Amino acid sequence: MTATVLDGAEMARRVYAELAPRIAALRDAGVVPGLATVVVGNNPASRVYVRNKVKACADAGVHAEVHELDERCTQDELMAKVAELNARGDIHGIIVQMPLPAGLDAPAALQSVALAKDVDGFNWANLGALVDAHPQLVPCTPLGVMHMLDYSGTPVEGRHAVVVGRSNVVGKPMALLLIARGATVTVCNSRTPDLAAHTRTADILVAAAGRARLVTADMVKPGAVVVDVGINRLPDGKLAGDVDYAAVSAVAGAISPVPGGVGRMTVAMLVSNTVRAAELRTDA
Ligand code: NAD
Repeated sequence: MTATVLDGAEMARRVYAELAPRIAALRDAGVVPGLATVVVGNNPASRVYVRNKVKACADAGVHAEVHELDERCTQDELMAKVAELNARGDIHGIIVQMPLPAGLDAPAALQSVALAKDVDGFNWANLGALVDAHPQLVPCTPLGVMHMLDYSGTPVEGRHAVVVGRSNVVGKPMALLLIARGATVTVCNSRTPDLAAHTRTADILVAAAGRARLVTADMVKPGAVVVDVGINRLPDGKLAGDVDYAAVSAVAGAISPVPGGVGRMTVAMLVSNTVRAAELRTDA
């Protein structure tokens, strides 16, 4: 069997096409959706991510601006920047780019973003709404995975989904979205004994551990849908997912590549959340 490729670039184009009339309607009403990203310090990976987000916004007709703060900025300066952006009527979404330099309180910074502008979906109230199956602004990566499942026609209800990883950013919200759609969900973590025994029973396998090629062919049920969230830098500088792509492609029914898979959808979901926040803006 050769797996169908879950092409993130192609699916992201579909997201942007679906967003285009909504962005046009907002613009007709005099509203340009606006995203502000706060970056502290000089993390090279963050710079690449932020550049990608700004380009995606520009291509979609969404205003994007980046606020760079010095590596040595204080918590008060960071909070003041977020407060300034919270107060601006032309900014509908705010991101505090992670990771922050050591010494800054990342949870406090994330929770200071106004609920209505929390396009990363990390505010406890937004996460709580997800627990209650009333999603508002949903974390972009798991939301992107759900779109990939839907766009590929993968049934979720009644299927067994295994999520490898339990972070607040990916694993936990992923599990909640799958539960809300009627899947039976197993969530694994680094202490799970015999990971393969779980993954082998998955109809839908979402790998989000941050361990290069953790998921090998013998860990996948034939025909399973495998979504690879991991982004790992190999010693030779190349990127690899959490799934051994070449070997698992021969077993799975569908598989997402890295790069060109979930990452593209994560950025598309950020644009989508910004548009949603602009539509729901409180000054309308
Ligand atoms: P994290 O380090 O916060 O969490 C990793 C999780 O995986 C933890 O719950 C840990 O217990 C679990 N884990 C680690 N090793 C394991 C193992 N051997 N077996 C089972 N579970 C294991 O990371 P994160 O922020 O959730 O990100 C996970 C990966 O996804 C990273 O590679 C990250 O770069 C990538 N990521 C990609 C996107 C994207 O857009 N594609 C977005 C966010 C994160």
